[in-house]
Amino acid sequence: MKAAPDAQRRLLDLQAVDTALNQLAHRRKSLPELSEIETVSREISALEDERVRAQVAVDDLDRDITRFEKDIDQVRTRKNRDQARLNAGGALREIEGLQHELATLNRRQSELEDAELELMEKRESAEQTLNEIKKRIARSIERRAAAEARRDEATAEITKEQEFKTQSRAPLAADLPQDLVQLYDKIRADTGLGAALVRAGRCGGCRIELYGADLNRVKGAPADEVVRCEECRRIMIRTQESGL
Ligand SMILES: [Zn+2]
Repeated sequence: MKAAPDAQRRLLDLQAVDTALNQLAHRRKSLPELSEIETVSREISALEDERVRAQVAVDDLDRDITRFEKDIDQVRTRKNRDQARLNAGGALREIEGLQHELATLNRRQSELEDAELELMEKRESAEQTLNEIKKRIARSIERRAAAEARRDEATAEITKEQEFKTQSRAPLAADLPQDLVQLYDKIRADTGLGAALVRAGRCGGCRIELYGADLNRVKGAPADEVVRCEECRRIMIRTQESGL
């Protein structure tokens, strides 16, 4: 392919813009906020599991406490009934029987109340655990929101720079021969770099030093010949710096 030496040199300007665009795309994908958001999201999901387990523990204790309260109520009702019958008086045997039952019911009530108290203490600590987890979730959600805000800000900044670079690319490309740009774009799509300056006898794409027949090939090529590297296939731009 043939192209004016000046057009070939201007490929480097296009490459500079494309390299900047590549870097912007890379920066967008590797923002530190992205991994932070991912880490915090995983933390939140683990904490949500913990919260569910802690809630189940509280609910189980509530159910047990309700059951105890029902039992205690039943004992109280029976005690009241016995007491009423006792107050009404009756045969000695009957009174003794009622007194015996009342004593048993009192013991039963105090056992149930002790057990209920123990459960209520357990419930209190279970609820504390649950509240602690909820607080940690709230803090993590706040942290994630802050990271998301920073990510959005950085992304908007990158988008602005990308638009700016893309706008400056269009006239550069339009000013160059169509076939040269097509070749450059094809190589760039494959390798990320379409054209590179030959500097001090080295290809700027793969950094390999030219020598022997290859050096002679590049040296001997007319200025308007589009020369490509034998190693990396990139377009080699020759200037005063090329050391040829
Ligand atoms: Zn090369």
